[in-house]
Amino acid sequence: MRIDIITLFPEMCDAVLNESIIGRAQKKGVLEIVTHQLRDFAFDKHKRVDDTPYGGGMGMLMKAEPIALCFEDICKQTGTRPHFVYMSPQGKTLTQKHLKELAQKENICVLCGHYEGVDQRVLDSLIDEEISIGDYVLTGGELPALVFVDALSRMAKGVLSDDLCFTEESHYNGLLEYPQYTKPQNWRGMEVPAVLTSGHHANVDRWRYEQSLINTLNKRPDMIEKKELSKEDNDFLKTYINSNKK
Ligand code: SAM
Repeated sequence: MRIDIITLFPEMCDAVLNESIIGRAQKKGVLEIVTHQLRDFAFDKHKRVDDTPYGGGMGMLMKAEPIALCFEDICKQTGTRPHFVYMSPQGKTLTQKHLKELAQKENICVLCGHYEGVDQRVLDSLIDEEISIGDYVLTGGELPALVFVDALSRMAKGVLSDDLCFTEESHYNGLLEYPQYTKPQNWRGMEVPAVLTSGHHANVDRWRYEQSLINTLNKRPDMIEKKELSKEDNDFLKTYINSNKK
């Protein structure tokens, strides 16, 4: 997978994406992330990437032409038209389900907004979709882009050692993950649940799945409502609820 990021602050993105798991994946060659300085595509004499909005009002807007030129350059470099995403508080809120779909794409380009945002004509003519990381407003699109690119990259083939690393995690199958423990077995009087040290894999799997159901019910009942559960799962949760009634 190749991800291109159009930004006024490439160093900010590189600093994060060249570290840890995503940085190692790039070194291994299973993932390519290329940041582009938008200012390099501003060809007027002041290299301006922003201007005042028509009709007046607060703040500045990012101009359309540098964005179009930068995107066209990326299309030329990659020999394809990447799926073009604009990070925006007006977009669809990012979910694991949507990331799963986007992780199938070979090329994605991400536009980081700044100031008051971008000229509407960029959205109308170039952008495939707007993605938000939540119902609040940040000063720029770099932090949202980093959240998006990190979450997306870890699902790209070869980035994590095994697909199980993300398929067993919270949200992938509409449930939260089960509780986890590491050494020592007894920490300050608190014991690790016996089943985890029993060596009985089927029992461990069953316990983890049941804990996952309980965890989701307690922390995110909205997710349990949306999840299609088997009769066995529903019966298990009913028994759990009844035995925990005060
Ligand atoms: N004027 C815009 C509005 O009201 O919709 C907000 C602009 S915001 C100050 C500047 C940039 O930050 C946006 O263009 C976008 O790229 C990014 N941004 C801010 N909040 C975001 C969020 N919740 N999700 C994704 N991107 C966001």
